[in-house]
Amino acid sequence: MLNLAVVLEDSARDTPDATAVVFGDLRLPYSLVNTIANQVANLLAARGVGRGDKVALACPNLPYFPFVYYGILKAGATVVPLNVLLQAREIAYHLDDSDAKAFFCFEGTPELPLGERGRAGFAEAGRAEHFVVLPATPFATESAYGETLWAALDGMPGEFETVQTSPEDTAVILYTSGTTGQPKGAELSHQNMVMNAVISDEMFRRQDRNAYLVALPLFHSFGQTVLMNAGFRRRATLVLMPRFEPAGALALMEQEEVTLFAGVPTMYWAMLTAVRTGAAAAPSSLVTAASGGSALPVEVLKDFSATFGVDILEGYGLSETSPVASFNQPGRPAKAGSIGTPVWGVEMKLVDPEWNTVGDADGIGEIAVRGHNIMKGYHNRPEATAEVMRDGWFRTGDMARRDEDGYYFIVDRAKDMIIRGGFNVYPREIEEVLMTHPAVSLAAVVGVPHESHGEEVKAYVIRTPGDTTTEEELVAWSRETMAAYKYPRIVEFRESLPMTATGKILKRELR
Ligand code: AMP
Repeated sequence: MLNLAVVLEDSARDTPDATAVVFGDLRLPYSLVNTIANQVANLLAARGVGRGDKVALACPNLPYFPFVYYGILKAGATVVPLNVLLQAREIAYHLDDSDAKAFFCFEGTPELPLGERGRAGFAEAGRAEHFVVLPATPFATESAYGETLWAALDGMPGEFETVQTSPEDTAVILYTSGTTGQPKGAELSHQNMVMNAVISDEMFRRQDRNAYLVALPLFHSFGQTVLMNAGFRRRATLVLMPRFEPAGALALMEQEEVTLFAGVPTMYWAMLTAVRTGAAAAPSSLVTAASGGSALPVEVLKDFSATFGVDILEGYGLSETSPVASFNQPGRPAKAGSIGTPVWGVEMKLVDPEWNTVGDADGIGEIAVRGHNIMKGYHNRPEATAEVMRDGWFRTGDMARRDEDGYYFIVDRAKDMIIRGGFNVYPREIEEVLMTHPAVSLAAVVGVPHESHGEEVKAYVIRTPGDTTTEEELVAWSRETMAAYKYPRIVEFRESLPMTATGKILKRELR
C-alpha cells in the first residue's frame, strides 16, 4: 500500500516542529501543514469525494498548494493541478476533460484575476460539483467568488486516516500539450511520483539544514516533484516565491539561507544577468543548483559556475515521465551541454519514426524512455497514448545523440527543427553558437516561412547590456561562423522573449 502523501506524513511525524514552508512572514511547521491537509481530506470525504475521484487545484506557489495537494491525496483522490494563467474557457475544458468533481481555486490578485476566471470556468464546466475559494487574504472566511477554504474547514478534525491507495492508482493528472495538439492529461501513479521524488532527493547534496527556493510553479511537474515532494521527504524548508523575479529570488536566497535552487535555464540566465549588472549579489548559502525543462546554454552553465561558485546539474524529463528521466548524477563527471545519463531504474534509447533502435554510430534519434517513471497514459485518450507508447517505452519527441560514455545530448525537439531548403537545422546548435558572441545575452532561433526555402532561420536576440553591435553585424558574423545552410539570415533584437509560466521560451509565439 502506498500513497504519495507519505512524503509529508513521515516528516510531520519525525520532525513536527521543523519549518516546512516559508511564505513572507509566515513560517509553518511540518505538523501544521499535515494537520491542515488532514482537514482538507476530511472536507473532501464529507462531500463524498474519495478514491478514484479527481479534484482540480489552481493556485500559485502559496501555502495553500501543499495543504490542498496532500489533502486530496490523503482522501485517496487524484490531484489535477492547473496552470494559473488559464482563461475561463480553458479552465472549463480542463475540469471537464479530467472529470473533476471538485475545484479549489485561488481568489487571485488584480494582476492575476484567477478567482473570476475560475468561477466562470467552473460555471461553464458540466460535471464539477464543488467550488472552494482559496482567499487572497490568509484565513479570510468570505469571498465574492464563493465558499472559502477556511469556512469549509470550520469544524473539520485535524486527524485523518489516509486512504491507502494502490501503487497503480492515479495520484496526479498533469496537463501537457505533449508533442502535438490540445492539452492532454498525463496520468501519473502514486508509484511514479513517489519513485521520482525519492530519486530526485537522493541526487542532491544533503546538508544538516536544507532550504529550497520554490520559484518553479508547483502546478508543473518539475517544481512539484523535484522541489515539493522531494523537499518534503528531505524535511527541507520550502521557501515559496509565487512569481520569479531574479533580484527578489537572490535576496530571498540570501535571507533564508537557501541551499538548493532548481529552475529552468531562463531563470539562471536572469539571475546571472542581475548579478553581472550589479542589480543583485550571488547568495552565499547555495550548494546545489539543478536545471531542466529546456536546454541549458553552455555559456550560461559556465558563467553561472564562475560567478556563483556552484555547478549547475542539468537533468531532463517531461510531465509524462514524472518528470525526471536523466541527470548529470553525483559520482559521475558532469558534461556540459548533456542531460546526463538515465536515473536509477530508467532506461533510455534512441529510435527512428518506426520505433527502430538508432545505434550510436547512426547519430541522431528520438529519445524513448522506459521505467518506473512512465505515465499510465493520457486520461481518456487511448489513441494519443498508443501513438507515444509501445512495450512500456514512451517516445518523447526530443531528438538527441549519445556519446561513448552513454551521456545523452539533446539536439532539439522534433517539432522545433527547421527545414531550410531540404537541410535539417537544429535551433539549439545555432543558439549555442550565437551565445558565444559577446553581444548576445540570450538567443532563440526559429524557422519562419520562406517562399523558396520553405523555412528561413531567424534569431531573436536579447543584447548584452551596453553593447552596440547591430543586427546586420551579427548576421555578418554568423555567416562567417556557421555553414551557409544554417546561419541566421535574419536577426532581430528584442528587450525580452515570450515565456511560459514555467519560464520556457515560447517558440510557437516567436514563429
Ligand atoms: P514538460 O512536459 O512541460 O515538462 O516539457 C517537457 C519538454 O521539455 C521535453 O520534451 C523537452 O523538450 C524539454 N526539456 C526538458 N528538459 C530539457 C533539457 N534538459 N534540455 C532540453 N530540453 C528539455
